[in-house]
Amino acid sequence: MSSVIELVALDITDQELLSSLCAEVPTTYPFQCRIGAAEKLPVSALDMHRGQYQATRILEHLASSDRDAVRLLGITTADLFTPILRYIFGEAMLPGKAAIVSTHRLGNLSRGTQPPCDRPLFISRVIKEGIHELGHTFGLTHCADPSCVMTASREMARIDAKSTQLCRYCRILLDDFLTA
Ligand SMILES: [Zn+2]
Ligand SMILES: [Zn+2]
Repeated sequence: MSSVIELVALDITDQELLSSLCAEVPTTYPFQCRIGAAEKLPVSALDMHRGQYQATRILEHLASSDRDAVRLLGITTADLFTPILRYIFGEAMLPGKAAIVSTHRLGNLSRGTQPPCDRPLFISRVIKEGIHELGHTFGLTHCADPSCVMTASREMARIDAKSTQLCRYCRILLDDFLTA
C-alpha cells in the first residue's frame, strides 16, 4: 500500500495554499503528503442550473483514478453541493479513498462585524477543512470537542474556533483505524 496522501488540484492554481496544506497533513496523519498532477473538475459533476459541482460525483471521480496514493484530497475553488445540502465546505468518503475541500466560501466573512478575511486566516481555514475531511476518510466521525478539528463546522465561527489538530480521543480512534 502506498504511504502517501496526494493533494489533487482541481481547477485551483494557488501553490502557496497547496503547499501550506501539504505541509500540515503529516502532522496529523502518519503519511507523507505530495501535490499531484493538477486536473480539471469532471464535467459530469457540474450542475449547470445551480452553477455548482456535486461533491459526491467528484469523490467518485477521484476514487476511480489510478493515482498511487493511500488517500486523495481534492482541492477546488468551485462551489460544491450535495443532494441534501445547498452548499458544503467539503465532503469525504466515510471511510474511503477520496475527500474534497472547496475554498469557495472559506474567504467569506462569517458576520458583518468581522473584518475582511485575511490571507493567513483563509489558509488556516482550508487546512482545517482539509484535515477534517481526511479524518472522515480514515473513519472518524464528528467530535463533540469544539477545539477538535473533527468538530462539525457548518458556520465560519466554528471553523475559526477549532484547531488544526485531532483531540486525544479522535487520535486514539485514528490509531485504531490505521492498525486494524
Ligand atoms: Zn465532517
Ligand atoms: Zn475529536
